[in-house]
Amino acid sequence: MRKVVTKFGGTSLANSDQFLKVKSIIAADENRKFVVPSAPGKRHGKDFKITDILYLCSEHVKQGIPFDQIFKLVEDRYIDLRNDLGINVDIESHLQQVKEDLLEKKSSDFAASRGEYLNGILLADFLGYNFIDSAEVIKFNNYGRIDLFETEKKFKEKINENERYVIPGFYGSMPNGAIKTFSRGGSDMTGSIIARCVMADLYENWTDVSGFLMADPRIVENPKPIDKITYKELRELSYMGATVLHEDCIFPLKDVGIPINIKNTNKPEDEGTFIISDMEPVVHMGNITGIAGKKDFTVVTIQKTLMNAEHGYCRKLLSILETNGISFENMPAGIDSVSLVIADSELGDKLDTIIREIENLCSPDSIEVLPNMALIATVGNGMSKSVGVSSKVFTGLATEKINIRMINQGSSEMNIIVGVENEDFENAIKAIYKAFQ
Ligand code: ASP
Repeated sequence: MRKVVTKFGGTSLANSDQFLKVKSIIAADENRKFVVPSAPGKRHGKDFKITDILYLCSEHVKQGIPFDQIFKLVEDRYIDLRNDLGINVDIESHLQQVKEDLLEKKSSDFAASRGEYLNGILLADFLGYNFIDSAEVIKFNNYGRIDLFETEKKFKEKINENERYVIPGFYGSMPNGAIKTFSRGGSDMTGSIIARCVMADLYENWTDVSGFLMADPRIVENPKPIDKITYKELRELSYMGATVLHEDCIFPLKDVGIPINIKNTNKPEDEGTFIISDMEPVVHMGNITGIAGKKDFTVVTIQKTLMNAEHGYCRKLLSILETNGISFENMPAGIDSVSLVIADSELGDKLDTIIREIENLCSPDSIEVLPNMALIATVGNGMSKSVGVSSKVFTGLATEKINIRMINQGSSEMNIIVGVENEDFENAIKAIYKAFQ
C-alpha cells in the first residue's frame, strides 16, 4: 500500500459542504492515511478566517479587554459545523477549555493553534480517523526551529501502520511543552514534515486552485497552468511572490525526493501541479516555467574609481548591512561600482544610517539611491540549455516600451531577474508572458 499525506487548506474546510467534499476525496483513495487540516477559512469574500479571530482574541486578553463577543464567532462557527455534519462531538467542552486557557494569557501562538486543533477534532470524528494532537508529535527545538529527529521519533512511537490519522496543521510544541506555530500558512509545513516522517510516497496539498499558474491571474488573463515544476524552480517562484504553498515546505522533502501534488478540493478531477525532484528533466513552454515578482525595492549604487583593485571593498559594504540586520536581495556589480538591491520592508528607516556608514567606512566617490523598483523573475530549468530566452524577455519588455533598470541572471541559469519601475510592474509581467506565447 502507498502512503499518502493529504493536507487540506482553510477554504477546503470552511463549512460542512466543504467537509463533505473532503470526505469523498479521502474515500476515493485508501492510501490517504494521514490527513492534515487547516483551521476553517473564509466561506465567501467578506467572511473571516478563524485563525485571524483567534489572534484577535489573544490581543484582547493581552490588553485586558473582554473577548467574549469575538470568541462567540469562534464558538458559533464550530458548533454550526458540528451540527451541520451531524456528528456527536462535545465541541462545547473543548471550546470552554480553549476559552479558559486563553484567559490564562497563554501565548498568541497557543491561541492561533486552536483553530487547527478544534477543526482536527471535528474532522477526525467525521472521517472516522484517529486524532493526534500535533503538540505531541511536531517538535521544535529551543531556537524555535523544527526538530526533525525528535519529531520523527515521536511520530514513530505514536502511530500504528494499520491505523488512519488526522493531525492538525500549523503547530507543534517547544521542549518546555509550550505551543508554537509555524509562520502563517504553516499547515503546509506540518504536511511536509509528516510526509517526511512517514516517508510518504506522495504529499497532496488540497487547496482552492488547481495548482500553480505560469503567472499571477490577477495580472495575466488566463495564464497557463504548470503541470510539473522542480523543487528549485518552485523555490524561485514562491520566493518571488507566487503564493500557493508555504515557501519553506519543500525543505523537509527535497533530499528524500517526495513529490508534492497541489490539488483543488472544488475540482478534484483536475491534475493540479506536481512538484518533483530537481533531478527530473522538465521542459516547459518556450523553456520557461513561470513568472513572478515583487514590488518595493530600493537600489543603493556605490561608485568608486579603482574599486575592482581594492581588496575587501564588498566585504566592508556587506558588513554594514550585517551590523544593521539588513539582508539584501541582489548585488549587481560593474568594474568601479556595485549596487545593493534591498527590499523596503528590510530597509525600514535605516537608509540614512547605512548611507552614513558607507560614507565613513568605504569612502565612495558617490552614492546614488533609487527607490520604487520592482523585481520580476522569469524562471525555468530549461533556460540553461536553450538559446534566446533572455532575448525574448528583453524584446518583450522593449516592445511594450518598458524600461529595464537592472538585469541579473543567477549563476544556476534558472532565472533571469529584471528590475523595473514599480508602476511598470504589471505591464512588465504581461509583456514577458506574451513574449513566450
Ligand atoms: N490557519 C493558519 C493560517 O491561517 C495556518 C494555515 O492555514 O496554513 O495561517
